Amino acid sequence: MSTDFQPVSGFVLPRYAGVPTFMRLPHIPLDDPRLAQVHIGLIGAPWDGGTTNRPGPRHGPRQLRDASTMIRAQHGITGLRPFEAANCADLGDVAPNPADVQDSLRRMTEFYTQVRAAGIVPLTAGGDHLCTLPILRALAHDRPLGMIHFDSHTDLFHSYFNGMMYTHGTPFRRAVEEELLDPKRVCMIGIRGTAYDSEDREFARSVGIRVIPIEEFHKRGVADVMAEAREIAGAGDTYVSYDIDFVDPAFAPGTGTPEVGGPSSWQALECARLLAGIKIVGADLVEVSPPFDPSGGTAYLGASLMFEMLCAIVQAKS
Ligand code: MN
Ligand code: MN
Repeated sequence: MSTDFQPVSGFVLPRYAGVPTFMRLPHIPLDDPRLAQVHIGLIGAPWDGGTTNRPGPRHGPRQLRDASTMIRAQHGITGLRPFEAANCADLGDVAPNPADVQDSLRRMTEFYTQVRAAGIVPLTAGGDHLCTLPILRALAHDRPLGMIHFDSHTDLFHSYFNGMMYTHGTPFRRAVEEELLDPKRVCMIGIRGTAYDSEDREFARSVGIRVIPIEEFHKRGVADVMAEAREIAGAGDTYVSYDIDFVDPAFAPGTGTPEVGGPSSWQALECARLLAGIKIVGADLVEVSPPFDPSGGTAYLGASLMFEMLCAIVQAKS
């Protein structure tokens, strides 16, 4: 394992100092020759062109980078030291076109196609949830993936505003239609809140997506729900998509479409920890909207969830 990929220790340079990168890892852009040595790439997707309600996740990556400088090298519970088990790096931001949805989707697909070609597992900080669609287009172009999806919302709607097919409420409908996901290996956890109608849930039922609504989540508990999620994902390649609005807005107010009655930050972290064992080929943490939480607490939880997912990816790798 190369020592080039260790985070800067807080004993060497205080954690509030220096140019912030994700988890204080080295910045390795896609044209850097060291890219070939990277196993896990942390990537910012500063784009919220799919947002239908309160915006702001375009500012997520910068605040998440800053908050992630608080992350230390060793997991507090498991003792895992992920940066010694895999070469991790900050690959920088994908450059979107804030004035054009389709051009942004194309740019992101192209970026993640390069990441995949380099054999790197991407861990993305969004951005709104439409960012996940171009990532899946790059990672799943040759076979459908399973997916574990934490969210208040299914994001399975057909369209918004008279036929708008590409919003943060539709990415997984498109992903199923484009055969990027194997619906029988998809599990959506934490779904709640008032609804427009039941169209999304009916679609889930019709294609075999397992939806675990919040009332079932609270009744059964994290360990039992996650055991079922791992079983649904099975042994195949699986993507993990984590919308911060899965977490109760008391703990994560910095998001555009909050829904009350959700998990605590402890339960949210435990869910991510119990992804260990799944063959994760990519993961994201989306919908952190800094303007709605100037305290930065939401971003700190988001960065901590990214560290949990990073640890799960490392465990899948070994
Ligand atoms: Mn979502
Ligand atoms: Mn959501």
